[in-house]
Amino acid sequence: MAADRRPRRSIPGEGFRARKQFGQNFLRDENIIADIVAAIAPDDQEVTVEIGPGMGALTRPVCRRLSHLHAVEIDRDLAQRLREDPVLGKCLTIHEADALSFDFSSLKQEGKALKIFGNLPYNISTPLLFHLLSYGPLISSMTFMLQKEVVDRLTASPGCKDYGRLSVMAQYRCRMYPLLAVPPEAFQPAPKVWSAVVRMEPWQEKPRTVADESLLEAVTAAAFSQRRKTIANSLGDYLEAGDFADLGLDRRLRAEDLTVNQFADIADLVAARRSR
Ligand code: SAM
Repeated sequence: MAADRRPRRSIPGEGFRARKQFGQNFLRDENIIADIVAAIAPDDQEVTVEIGPGMGALTRPVCRRLSHLHAVEIDRDLAQRLREDPVLGKCLTIHEADALSFDFSSLKQEGKALKIFGNLPYNISTPLLFHLLSYGPLISSMTFMLQKEVVDRLTASPGCKDYGRLSVMAQYRCRMYPLLAVPPEAFQPAPKVWSAVVRMEPWQEKPRTVADESLLEAVTAAAFSQRRKTIANSLGDYLEAGDFADLGLDRRLRAEDLTVNQFADIADLVAARRSR
């Protein structure tokens, strides 16, 4: 990840109190904003969608490079401000909605993929990522600001302490690029922890597909729910004694030792047994 730089501040909208329940930490560092916009690479070839535009810190520079932008915002007051903005109003379609239940496929246009970005509300980032991953085939890229800890988990490799269920399920569906670490003072109000920007590109052709993705999720969740235990213990509900040799796996391994492909092998073995 690139090193952070000294913050250059802009003042967020006057007279608005950030709402904690909506995870509102507004970006105010123009250098970081410019870096994120460069990473998003806005382009009219795609349908571009922002999650949580807030007061428009990213929305404004992105709109300068696009003829149209969709934005999903839950906060009624912020949605209203953006709608009434004399410049943004022309470029933006605001969907006043909860991104967790928003149907992103409704924005799809013939011949255009979705390009999604946002400085995401941290309190819902993991369920929101799982919701978005279900639209993977429609999406060309997702560029998100998240808690750095979440980006570390998304991009972790086997053997790392951050490697877990989120790493396996995200890497199964997307190629991951950690881009930029962002200090708390880049936001108003400042969060307690560092943030980071990640670019996620859903595989158009996955390097490995499984017969049943819900089984991959279930097996991965079971293995990491007892991550200090061997897989012989944690996957006792799924694997029989003879399976380890068939899979070429040492039964003393732990969840954090297994690659995404090895989790996929386990899920496929279980799927094959259940379909017999
Ligand atoms: N993009 C702005 C920026 O960078 O300054 C604001 C980012 S702030 C971290 C998160 C934004 O997401 C807020 O505008 C908040 O109201 C919005 N938000 C929170 N929960 C949401 C949800 N479930 N669906 C849609 N928007 C949400």
